[in-house]
Amino acid sequence: MQLDSIISSIEASRQGMIDDMVEMIRIPAIGPFNGGKGEGERADQVMKYLAGFDSVERVDVPDDCDPTVMRPNILARKNGRGKGTVWIVSHLDTVLPGDLSQWDSPPFEPRVDGDRIYGLGTEDNGQAVIASIYGARFFESGSLSKMSIGLAFVADEETKSLMGIGHLIDAGYFSEDDFILVPDWGVPGGTMVEVAEKHLLWVKVAVKGKQTHGSTPQKGINAFRVSAQLLSDLMFRLAVRYYEEDPLFRPPISTFEPTKTVATVPSVNVIPAYHEFTMDCRILPRYDPDEVMGFIRKVAGEHAARSGADIDVEVEQVTFSGAPSATDTPEFAAFMDSVRAVVDGEVEVTGVGGGTCANFFRVKGMNAYVWECGGGTLHQPNEHVLISNMITDAKVYANLFYRLCV
Ligand SMILES: [Zn+2]
Repeated sequence: MQLDSIISSIEASRQGMIDDMVEMIRIPAIGPFNGGKGEGERADQVMKYLAGFDSVERVDVPDDCDPTVMRPNILARKNGRGKGTVWIVSHLDTVLPGDLSQWDSPPFEPRVDGDRIYGLGTEDNGQAVIASIYGARFFESGSLSKMSIGLAFVADEETKSLMGIGHLIDAGYFSEDDFILVPDWGVPGGTMVEVAEKHLLWVKVAVKGKQTHGSTPQKGINAFRVSAQLLSDLMFRLAVRYYEEDPLFRPPISTFEPTKTVATVPSVNVIPAYHEFTMDCRILPRYDPDEVMGFIRKVAGEHAARSGADIDVEVEQVTFSGAPSATDTPEFAAFMDSVRAVVDGEVEVTGVGGGTCANFFRVKGMNAYVWECGGGTLHQPNEHVLISNMITDAKVYANLFYRLCV
């Protein structure tokens, strides 16, 4: 089996990729938490695309909001004679379409226009579903003398992944001998490979003071004033305390950004009794988010004591990131060679703010890598995928399978 003929077969599959994408995108795949019926019917459709695999296993997990809904995961394999599997992991579910008036054509009626296919879930993550299928399709089963080829199509990525990749990892479907690629982030042109993520920490700070007239602030406690002073103190002291840089990441530092806040009072002459704000913190893996939380609580305590206000600090969400994935393994070198063989330009290794399915592997001590040719329309109205990106991605996967499996 020659790589050249596999690449030619992929190049000749443009219309097949379009047809498969269009049929798949017509079927909504929104989780029950967001008011949908799950990915079941879309998974049934994807299983029709998996002819020629040695095994296709379906792992249905009952939904935690609505146990009558099963959340489907599919594992398709072409068996190799060596140890380990090269996995490409993509997700079946989508977010909600949002404001329909912002879509030029209905999100579940895919529209092909030149190099683009419009529709909800085309880029996120239909691109990876279709490209991985075509990347694997032309490898004859029985011809793999090294690693196995594995495609995983998972549920529940857009909420918590507990019924998707989290479930599969806990159930032991992956091993340390595997090479794991998660194509759910990328830059246009495909020149960046993500090997690390920051911790994510979302903090809500609520300040309770005492309302009074605008002319007599001494009779109340201005929650907005206390909040503003606390926030400015936090921004300064967090940046000083967690100052270290890691050039792998863009940006190379931990970031602590104020994001949401609430309205205070409807009148200019009223001292507000309540204010709250949230911070979106993306913290380098070398620091401990629990320690950062402790420091934020300590600073808030100082401001509460100083002002007499009640200050409540709450974690809205925290995601611990695993250690960066190894870049000195022969498998990773083969992957980099595969990307370089197909895309133009310098290919770089990078860390990002988080969070993809790859982190679920990293926190269990496994290596996982994130790469695709990015488009940048995900979670937006008029989401679309570039057909040329699907073809490029499929060629990179074929190169990778060829190097590690044949
Ligand atoms: Zn995604």
